[in-house]
Amino acid sequence: MYLRIDKLQFELPMPEQPAPEAANAVQDLLGGRFGEMSTLMNYTYQSFNFRGRTKVKPYYDLIANIATEELGHIEMVAATINNMLTGAPKEGTNDGKIDPTDTPLSSVLGVGNPHHFGNNGGSALVSNALGQPWQGDFVFNSGDLVLDLLHNFFLESGARMGKIRVYEMTDHPTARAMLGYLLVRGGVHQVAYAKALEELTGANVTKMLNIPKIENDKFPETKVHRDANSHRTLYRFSPDDFKDIDKIWKGVHPDDGQEVFVKDGPPEGGQTVDHPEETAAYAPGYDPGELAEIAQRMMRNS
Ligand code: MN
Ligand code: MN
Repeated sequence: MYLRIDKLQFELPMPEQPAPEAANAVQDLLGGRFGEMSTLMNYTYQSFNFRGRTKVKPYYDLIANIATEELGHIEMVAATINNMLTGAPKEGTNDGKIDPTDTPLSSVLGVGNPHHFGNNGGSALVSNALGQPWQGDFVFNSGDLVLDLLHNFFLESGARMGKIRVYEMTDHPTARAMLGYLLVRGGVHQVAYAKALEELTGANVTKMLNIPKIENDKFPETKVHRDANSHRTLYRFSPDDFKDIDKIWKGVHPDDGQEVFVKDGPPEGGQTVDHPEETAAYAPGYDPGELAEIAQRMMRNS
């Protein structure tokens, strides 16, 4: 089962700086073949379906624990997309009721992904940058531990490639801060799966890193996380369980030769974001003031 904490794993800057085209590029990192939905669901189903797990517990613990971290990653990418869509409809439509005869959504017509405003109220989709929905057959779960770990190493490497290319497409501050964090955390997962494969097979998988062959220190937004040793940290996302991840997450980090370590509990995290109402798309309603009044009455009466 899962607990939920109403925080982001890392606090992202949220300037009002609409960028609907770039928001659509970021969609690939959420619902694309190598996006966060794929890493989340691959590790989640591999952990659900893991047979004989007690006999090889460190491997079960590793996959289950990284899966839980990925749940917070989809949350961060969605928050990024939502921020980049904020303010994209015409000026002045974010306060109070709007007049639909003013065509308030005309400014997003043919820009980015039409479903961002046409189907959602200016928010993230479970799809890639082409608008194609995330698919269950992006999950690879052969049941063979070495093959699944090899796939996960490949998946993290593809995910890193995707992040770097989106970084090259946009300098939006929310996107770049998100990428700085996820490049470091994805790097941890790449190294963790490499170490898992090394323990199992003796193959020197960490020697293949970096994939793609560019270091994280080329991206300035990773510095704050590297300085905080996030690249050496595997967070244990549970109060009492998955303690055997330290049987795999040990030894040195291939980037800097320093010891890696497990930290009990999730990252400190930062505030979630309350993106403003998008009245042009009636989110959360045609008359948001009326909805807020009803909610405030409920809270007063409780
Ligand atoms: Mn991730
Ligand atoms: Mn990952």
